[in-house]
Amino acid sequence: MKKSKKQTKEKRPDSLQLLKFVQGDNPALLNSLFAKDRLKTFENFVYDDQKDAYCNSKKLAAAGFRFCGDVGEPDALCPFCSKEMSFDPEDDPWDEHKKHCPKCPFVVVNELDEAKWTVDNLLLLIAALQTNEKKAAVTKLSDQLATMFNDVLLSLSTK
Ligand SMILES: [Zn+2]
Repeated sequence: MKKSKKQTKEKRPDSLQLLKFVQGDNPALLNSLFAKDRLKTFENFVYDDQKDAYCNSKKLAAAGFRFCGDVGEPDALCPFCSKEMSFDPEDDPWDEHKKHCPKCPFVVVNELDEAKWTVDNLLLLIAALQTNEKKAAVTKLSDQLATMFNDVLLSLSTK
C-alpha cells in the first residue's frame, strides 16, 4: 500500500512538466482542460440561483462542460467532444454526458478527480482539445470562404 502511494506521488511532476510544455505552446487550449477554468465561463448561470435545481455551473464544469449559450440559457458545450447540450434543472450533467457521448475522451477517462489523472489521460484530453480547436478553425475558414464566394457570385450576377 505504501509503495503505490509513493508511485502516485512520483507521477505528478511528470504531469506538471507535460502541462507546462503544452501550456507554453498554447495557453488558450488549457482554458478548457480543468474544471476551475471551465467554471469561469459560467457567469450568472441560470440555475445557480434556483435552490431546487440539481444542475448548476459547478456540476457542469466538473462534468467537462463550458458555458456556450446566451445570457439566461442553460446551454453548455463539452470542449473534448464538441457536444452542445441544453440542460434541465433536474439533470445530472455527468450522467447526461456519459449517456449522450459514451465515446467522448473526457467520458472515456471517467475520472472527475483531476489529481488522479495519469499522463496518458492528460495526453488523450489535450489531443482532443487540440483536434477540436483545429476543426473549429477549419470550419470558420470554410464559412468565410463560402461567404466570399457567394459575394463574388452575387456581384457577377448583378453586373
Ligand atoms: Zn464530451
